[in-house]
Amino acid sequence: MTDSECNDMDLIVVRTIKELREWRNSLDRNTRLGFVPTMGGLHEGHLSLVDRSLSETDITLVSIFVNSTQFSASEDLNTYPRQEKTDIELVKKRGCKIIFAPNATEMYPIGYGTFVESDIGKPNRNIQSEGASRPSFFKGVATILTKLFIISKPNHVYFGQKDAQQCAVVKKLIMDLNFDIKMRICDTIREKDGLAMSSRNLYLTNEERKVAPIIYKALLIGKKEYDEGERKSKQLKRLVIDKIKEMSESIGKDEILPQVIYVSICNRWSMEEVDGEITDSAGISKNLICIAAMLGKTRLLDNVVL
Ligand code: AMP
Repeated sequence: MTDSECNDMDLIVVRTIKELREWRNSLDRNTRLGFVPTMGGLHEGHLSLVDRSLSETDITLVSIFVNSTQFSASEDLNTYPRQEKTDIELVKKRGCKIIFAPNATEMYPIGYGTFVESDIGKPNRNIQSEGASRPSFFKGVATILTKLFIISKPNHVYFGQKDAQQCAVVKKLIMDLNFDIKMRICDTIREKDGLAMSSRNLYLTNEERKVAPIIYKALLIGKKEYDEGERKSKQLKRLVIDKIKEMSESIGKDEILPQVIYVSICNRWSMEEVDGEITDSAGISKNLICIAAMLGKTRLLDNVVL
């Protein structure tokens, strides 16, 4: 009996680093490995990354690991959606052959003490960012991804634009640590009403779920204003915040008004806040409007590219 589980002739679930390494080393030199790291609670957003990897590479590895180091003590590590059986079925249906689903001590054994930190993910980089609002978040993300990249040696990795700031941190990590990996960033997959799919959407009550699409609607209003010529960062941010308030009130959901944590207009790669005029260079989109908001107990995140 090996450490991995053969759920099916077609898909193996690997639990240990040793076995994943052996599997990786057994692949032909020319096999292109696509890798989709996730924390499970899979939905069509995650699966769109799996589809893209399947279409661009020879074999796709999906990891499912709720990474404790990216959660602060007050966050939802213990309640984070865990639905491994369903996740395995979903991944299998897409045609994927291998999942890496280690337990917490496999990745962080007792005495673990090495962390990776990117300058752009640091809390002081931008006070209106995930780095500032969740101080240990990017350190945890960069650490687990470095470990996973070293273990699985992927040729391509797939991330979602939904977590735009995370994409910036990963891009820099790959560059700075000389990983020979191509990074693909896939579009945000949304529900019909515009809400960005997220594992955390499961936490929303029915009432909150009705209000949640307001966040994307406000972002689109901001983007439209930008497209029509508004270049003052402050004005655009104000507009997005005001629209969230206005739309919540207009549907009579005053009591569950989304609490905006930040609205940021920042460079999509450096994450530096654009305080004055927003500039664009030769049609290349380089800035984002990012938003984080609490809706009840649920932290929602979204962004649009300007
Ligand atoms: P998570 O499991 O939340 O860590 O997400 C794993 C990957 O899926 C990350 O690269 C996310 O950016 C991506 N992802 C999550 N939600 C979406 C979505 N709605 N659309 C596209 N990608 C997504």
